[in-house]
Amino acid sequence: MKYVSTRGRAPELDFADVTLTGLARDGGLYVPAAWPQLSAADLRALSGLSYAEAATRIMAPFVAPALTSDQLGGLVEAAYKSFSHQAVVPLVQLDSADWLMELYHGPTLAFKDVALQLLGQFFDHFLTARGQKVTVVGATSGDTGSAAIEACRDRDCVEIFMLHPAGRVSDVQRRQMTTVLSNNVHNIAVDGTFDDCQAMVKAMFNDLEFRDSLHLSAVNSINWARVMAQVVYYVTTAVALGAPDREVAFSVPTGNFGDIYAGYVARQMGVPIQQLIVATNINDILARTFETGAYTKGTVVPTITPSMDIQVSSNFERLLFDLHGRDGAQVTGLMDDFANSGEFRIGATELQSTRALFDATRVSEDETRAAIKATYEATGMLADPHTAVGLAAAARMRRDRHVPMVTLATAHAAKFPDAVEAATGVHPTLPARMGDLMTRAERYDSLPNDLETIKAYIRSHIGATKALA
Ligand SMILES: *Cc1c(COP(=O)(O)O)cnc(C)c1O
Repeated sequence: MKYVSTRGRAPELDFADVTLTGLARDGGLYVPAAWPQLSAADLRALSGLSYAEAATRIMAPFVAPALTSDQLGGLVEAAYKSFSHQAVVPLVQLDSADWLMELYHGPTLAFKDVALQLLGQFFDHFLTARGQKVTVVGATSGDTGSAAIEACRDRDCVEIFMLHPAGRVSDVQRRQMTTVLSNNVHNIAVDGTFDDCQAMVKAMFNDLEFRDSLHLSAVNSINWARVMAQVVYYVTTAVALGAPDREVAFSVPTGNFGDIYAGYVARQMGVPIQQLIVATNINDILARTFETGAYTKGTVVPTITPSMDIQVSSNFERLLFDLHGRDGAQVTGLMDDFANSGEFRIGATELQSTRALFDATRVSEDETRAAIKATYEATGMLADPHTAVGLAAAARMRRDRHVPMVTLATAHAAKFPDAVEAATGVHPTLPARMGDLMTRAERYDSLPNDLETIKAYIRSHIGATKALA
């Protein structure tokens, strides 16, 4: 498979380079040059396979010829060994035609593990083959940091530096990062906000001398390999619920449009998905865009669903590319409008075409709490607040009650215990394998909100552990 940029002016790359590069040189995002197709017979043949076997078949056309099917299979097996449920992504029934897809059985109890555990394997494989090393630098307001650290820990070819705002992430979130004591993991508590952390990471990537000499790399959600890993569970879930003979609908709690875009890809590959519900919290740039066609930046308001507190949805550019006939020049024009004025507009025809598949809605904080409570009363299950946004949206927007509706459960309730306890009166407990999290030893360094200090720290800590090839 060759990959092309959504802005049309970057070189075509193969899967290995796309995985290691992330963002295209023209500022665009990489997408496959064509969508591989799953025929009705291909879908039938997936039924009964293990998650790893199905994942290997579904992803094989995206990674060839950079990886053989056997190589891919080995990496997939290794990635999902770290999950605590044999099904990897189990389905749980809520009502006659309502289901939950549990995406939180990975090492950090949130859905980002499904993609990042595999991305870690890809990095290891490609870098080892090339004899290269990279320095992953990131900023986190909570969940992404721990999932990235778990993906990179103990890998010889990666040093990871994760910046978090001191005192502004929850204790569980901080401990999920700082109790990983591997030599290649470096946690930095910055005396500043998440925006300060993110601005410094951006500045490091824009300092070309620093970037090149340290081989800086990112594992953020615009990486194609992450989207690809997420396509798998839409396919396996549809098959489990009757595809290719029966349609299915999904409700997806969304921030960066990564997870739901993976559902769109599954549909492009031939999976009979009747409806995709874009479920946002009150940071509703996506709900507004699908409603009015105007993609307009707002200011971020903190909510009980912090992983969706986003007002720029990076992966939306990938959908725009298809909506505009895969014309990079048109996408470039829209993104330039956005950079200049904080807004672009989608044409009426393109907007209409999204409505065949997508419905979008925004869920308030009260509605989120009510959905946690209602789910607990009806089923005895504790939904985390992000999942509850999806459940509320599913109830409001479903098109056809005869089509199974699957809500994506993106985090374990114990990651957000306060909101869950407030809504249900029940304190969700961490799974046994993590029960000692709050008493494990931590390691991190506290640094001032100063770019040069942090750059010097990174240089010296790479030098201290190993020289870069
Ligand atoms: C990241 C995240 C989301 C949003 O996913 P996107 O791919 O950014 O749309 C939803 N829920 C949880 C718990 C997350 O960590």
